[in-house]
Amino acid sequence: MSILAKFSQLQHTYDALSAVKPNPFAVTFDEIISSTEGVIDGRQTILLGTNNYLGLTMDPECIEQSVQALRQQGTGTTGSRVANGSYASHRALEQDLANFFGREHCMVFSTGYQANLGMLSTLVGRGDHLILDADSHASIYDGARLGHAEVIRFRHSDPEDLYKRLRRLKDVPGSKMIVVEGIYSMLGDLAPLREIAAVKREMGAYLMVDEAHSMGVLGERGRGLAEAAGVEADVDFIVGTFSKSLGSVGGFCVADIEGFDILRVACRPYMFTASLPPSIIASTRQALRRLESDKPLRQRLSSNAERLYQGLRQLGLNVGPHASPIVSVALEDQELAVRFWNALLQSGLYLNLALPPATPSNRPLLRASVSAAHSRRQIDRAVELFGEVAVALGVLPATTGSPVAMVA
Ligand code: PMP
Repeated sequence: MSILAKFSQLQHTYDALSAVKPNPFAVTFDEIISSTEGVIDGRQTILLGTNNYLGLTMDPECIEQSVQALRQQGTGTTGSRVANGSYASHRALEQDLANFFGREHCMVFSTGYQANLGMLSTLVGRGDHLILDADSHASIYDGARLGHAEVIRFRHSDPEDLYKRLRRLKDVPGSKMIVVEGIYSMLGDLAPLREIAAVKREMGAYLMVDEAHSMGVLGERGRGLAEAAGVEADVDFIVGTFSKSLGSVGGFCVADIEGFDILRVACRPYMFTASLPPSIIASTRQALRRLESDKPLRQRLSSNAERLYQGLRQLGLNVGPHASPIVSVALEDQELAVRFWNALLQSGLYLNLALPPATPSNRPLLRASVSAAHSRRQIDRAVELFGEVAVALGVLPATTGSPVAMVA
């Protein structure tokens, strides 16, 4: 029997999806025209599935800084910071992030996935307790698996369930760490962070917030949900990524805890992998400067998100609980979701197809992520295409009116 036999069920599902042309899991961008437009299969396409929330991947100054660093310092560091040394720019980026979040300490990782893997497997260990929101991102679950703490899940965004579970641990020794996300990546819903922070205070736990999708999106200064909810003082650890609003790749954790730097020689996903290349550091630093100084960029993102959300909602599609830069439409079954996604792509609109078990409530989703760089015309066109395809597939009645007129 082949070593791959254990994947036969997955292979079966994948084959069924691959029969659709184009295969939703093998989309290739032949050309990137801008941060909101590309060419897929020879067709000019609106990109509405990128997580490029501030549109900074194509920002001329970010590119310029990156190119200069590439010329001056080369293509890569070829090693880990612990074994092979840090570049001054790694430290400078850590200082920039610490300043941005108003924290003492920062550690930069090579991806956001590794930041979660590293922090969760290191901060808590044998005899400790990790209390995770049930809808946590895979990197949070994988971090929990890599470490040795007991893992407990509480119902998604349910502070009462969290409270109950922590109460059971009240007299059990060991550190307790609650982990939640700012904006959840599938439906775009926000954690009830004020209530969660109150539980944390009462029960004497630590609190970590993954602001991957909320940094640069929420809060007066763009620091994320903890800032927007006014509970930064209750959040012990913030993790995040450079691969969304900052438009590059990498991850980080900031904190105020004394002795933080010992993690640099205890955290395996930090120690045993190559550090970020200087060109990435340079564009990330520039993107952070832009995020800090350009508040209208965030306001544009928010108004684009509201426009898409209201447009789809008024069409009668099943969108999430509130507007956020992630706008997802839930559909009844997988086959319909694949056909819907495909028809949108054929019409020149790219977004993400999210299928169970990666989705909440095991429902297939068409997941859009909005950018500050989208024009109103692109958003309106996206709503229009959703409406047309929904009617063609019988998801909405043929009498559905012009959504653009409704949101104009
Ligand atoms: N946390 C969350 C909530 C995410 O959605 C993601 C990526 N989608 C990550 C962490 C990992 O980030 P990265 O892409 O930098 O590995």
